[in-house]
Amino acid sequence: MYYSSGNYEAFARPRKPQGVDNKTAWFVGSGLASLAGAAFLVRDGRMPGERITILEQQQIAGGALDGLKVPEKGFVIRGGREMEDHFECLWDLFRSIPSLEIDDASVLDEFYWLNKDDPNYSLQ
Ligand SMILES: Cc1cc2nc3c(=O)[nH]c(=O)nc-3n(C[C@H](O)[C@H](O)[C@H](O)COP(=O)(O)OP(=O)(O)OC[C@H]3O[C@@H](n4cnc5c(N)ncnc54)[C@H](O)[C@@H]3O)c2cc1C
Repeated sequence: MYYSSGNYEAFARPRKPQGVDNKTAWFVGSGLASLAGAAFLVRDGRMPGERITILEQQQIAGGALDGLKVPEKGFVIRGGREMEDHFECLWDLFRSIPSLEIDDASVLDEFYWLNKDDPNYSLQ
């Protein structure tokens, strides 16, 4: 294992691995771990998304990140949503994923702006 510190290597993109276009990846469960693993495989491992399969045993995807809009009961979420400054891998991932709702913004931008407007982060 090779370790480095600082952002020099964090900002450089790895070379496309040889033969990745012919490989497949399978994830068991559709929680954050699998979704993040798949996203890193696409971004850093350059694996085409259509070669990645995520298996889920439940009717609803997302694992502990699921959320339900049930107007008669309210908004139901299984897991927690308190984030903090040093989710290094998650923030790195979010900054490379385009927002679905805001043009020219990343999911990180969107998350950051929302947290400025309606603070909801962990102070631990
Ligand atoms: C009440 C609560 C509060 C939390 N608060 C916070 C917080 O404030 N901040 C924070 O960062 N984290 C918080 N967490 C933790 C965070 O939500 C979880 O650590 C994270 O979502 C776990 O992701 P995961 O992918 O490892 O597992 P999960 O999200 O549990 O996903 C696993 C998935 O695998 C599926 N699965 C399992 N076995 C199989 C199988 N054999 N075949 C197919 N599918 C299978 C399951 O159905 C599930 O969908 C909280 C969690 C809970 C429950």
